[in-house]
Amino acid sequence: MVITCHKSPDGDALGSSLALCHVLQRLGKEVNVVTPDMAPKALEFVPGVFNIVVMTKQEARAQKLLQEAQIVFCLDYNALKRVDRLAEVIEPLNTPRVLIDHHLDPEGDFDVCISHPEASSTCELVFRVFMQMGLLRYMDRKAASCLYVGLTTDTGGFAYSCENPEFYEILASIMRRRIDRIWLYNKAMNTFSAESIRLQGYALSQKMQLFPEQGASLITLNKEELERFNYQRGDTETLVNKPLAIPEVYWSVFLREDTDRIKVSCRSQGDFSVSDICARYFNGGGHANAAGGEFFGTLAEAEKVFYKVLADLFPNNDKEEQQTTELK
Ligand code: 5GP
Ligand code: MN
Repeated sequence: MVITCHKSPDGDALGSSLALCHVLQRLGKEVNVVTPDMAPKALEFVPGVFNIVVMTKQEARAQKLLQEAQIVFCLDYNALKRVDRLAEVIEPLNTPRVLIDHHLDPEGDFDVCISHPEASSTCELVFRVFMQMGLLRYMDRKAASCLYVGLTTDTGGFAYSCENPEFYEILASIMRRRIDRIWLYNKAMNTFSAESIRLQGYALSQKMQLFPEQGASLITLNKEELERFNYQRGDTETLVNKPLAIPEVYWSVFLREDTDRIKVSCRSQGDFSVSDICARYFNGGGHANAAGGEFFGTLAEAEKVFYKVLADLFPNNDKEEQQTTELK
């Protein structure tokens, strides 16, 4: 069996994949986690992360495991394009595919499709699968710790997407496995290098633009700025959330210049959905309040697209244009 999750894996992708892997191993199954690329350094604390087979590092082994697998699990993604080059290996296989995910509108052929966008996280869904299959007795401290990571990171530290009271019953069951909760929480939510803290400070003090009339905030970071602070993957993980602390801001956009693309991250509060914005303007998607995408062009062009989003969504905010129209 092979468990896969999306590229640039986050706490939920890794936590759900590794928890499922631990439980299946305890059931005596031969199972491996295969990811499109490396986990960020900040997530190396998740139990089992060093056993993952990474496509960009061990391509032949990743291919062989997938070709020989009797089941392929697809965790925390809703379309094969989210697994980069792993998609080319998975697509032609006749192997049954099991999707466990909480993103909207899964695309593609899955033999079993456990898709619940209302769930806090894929970790929550993996827990529910364990429960419904009578496998909770195989969920040891290690597996529970992995699930705790995803439940924590995908809810911003229990700030959103955790309104269902059952979420806390799941947490209670995980707590009973005597996980080191405070240590895990701090590792998952509040551990950054000094350079990362300085980079975030710089971005917030020098690069945050506010658009109070549209309730928006924009932060951009180019390659030179990232290099100046010795940027490592994961260093700006929660930066996009910060402007939401400002009462006037209910949606926040972060554009980061990557090697061959601009990485887009969006967050929002309340009914304002950013997943549609990411789908329509930035080749992406995600959840209503946390979405992302990518833009193929320069940072300046991506910024222009952001201004187009502002103009499209808030046409009446352009007061000058409104006055000119009235005068005509
Ligand atoms: P982040 O801003 O942390 O990279 O992503 C937030 C959420 O947006 C992720 O959990 C994922 O659901 C979604 N997301 C991020 N990047 C992409 C992308 O390139 N394509 C799609 N479809 N969704 C993305
Ligand atoms: Mn997730």
